[in-house]
Amino acid sequence: MRALVKTAPTEGFTLQEVPVPTIREDEVLIRVRRAGVCGTDVHIHDWDAWASGRCKPPFTIGHEFAGEVEQVGALVTDVRIGDRVTAEGHIVCGRCHLCRTGNAHVCPNTKIIGVDRDGCFADYIAMPASNVWHLDDAIPFEIGGIHDPMGNAFHTALHGTEIPGATVLVTGCGPIGIFAVGICVAAGASRVIASDVNPTRLALAKQMGAHDTVTPSEAKATVQQVTGGLGVDVVLEMSGVPAAIHQAFELVRVGGRVQMLGIPAKPFEVNLATEIIFKGITVYGVIGRRMYDTWIQMSQFLRSGKFDPTPVITHRFPLEAHAEAIAAIKDGSAGKVVFEIG
Ligand code: NAD
Ligand code: ZN
Repeated sequence: MRALVKTAPTEGFTLQEVPVPTIREDEVLIRVRRAGVCGTDVHIHDWDAWASGRCKPPFTIGHEFAGEVEQVGALVTDVRIGDRVTAEGHIVCGRCHLCRTGNAHVCPNTKIIGVDRDGCFADYIAMPASNVWHLDDAIPFEIGGIHDPMGNAFHTALHGTEIPGATVLVTGCGPIGIFAVGICVAAGASRVIASDVNPTRLALAKQMGAHDTVTPSEAKATVQQVTGGLGVDVVLEMSGVPAAIHQAFELVRVGGRVQMLGIPAKPFEVNLATEIIFKGITVYGVIGRRMYDTWIQMSQFLRSGKFDPTPVITHRFPLEAHAEAIAAIKDGSAGKVVFEIG
């Protein structure tokens, strides 16, 4: 089969022929149809400090996908050949303190497909049956293939927040930020303000229902005007850029909530006293998707028809055009980039 492989600890990917994976008794073999390309794949492509510290080549890249089940292991009971599925790409131990207290998303023994083991930019992937998520018949593989980043957005927007009626600021309108805009609108936010430096991405945020689209330098005036000087109830920080993180703390109201998804490239200084403590705010760190309440919410929102992520997908490529796919993400103006695999 074809697979996009990180063959060596240097820059780049190689599309090559590899054996179809063999499955264990508790796993299923999935024929990959669509797969989302993500910033993480770019880090692995460029072999930056994070990638070289974490990943051990050779391995197949990719962690966002959907496809059809082609083979099931002997112990698998609820997944059948022909099922249309996606999967949670974080494989957790199921045995540790966190897993056993309903917090598997922070399991310290997590192995991520396409990072710690073979991923989905290939004709087939082997997955534990416990990670498989069934797709409704009405959900195309293309949408199935972006459940992972959409799930990041659902987790960030809806965990511990009270979005109905709320005023929300989304800092950073990458694919996940743009999904989050649509989710907050569907969940009944009274006002969603989307901030980014990139006009193409602001236009996508507008298309997903943002009431206001602003540059970071315009954000403060808009928040003050819209909230009568109070600040927003909730900020979804989805850029990882220090300036935006400071702005999140500045523009959230006293007693409000900042949900932090964006990952800063390196440590930076925050004034805990003035930015967090004296404002009495709650800060929540997001990791992946909650298992599996985030997935249930996501499927129910998609089923309702009130949230349609399709406009976020702006680029589609065959696996052979992997260099173009990586370039489209680096360009910074794409929404979601998807591989059409089979
Ligand atoms: P992305 O890099 O495509 O999006 C970031 C956006 O922030 C860009 O559109 C950029 O123009 C914008 N931006 C830059 N400076 C800004 C500023 N000052 N104010 C507002 N916006 C600004 O990323 P993505 O794929 O959508 O992911 C978003 C972030 O989430 C990234 O930092 C990524 O590493 C992180 N992430 C975290 C998790 C997790 O589990 N915590 C999972 C996936 C991604
Ligand atoms: Zn665990």
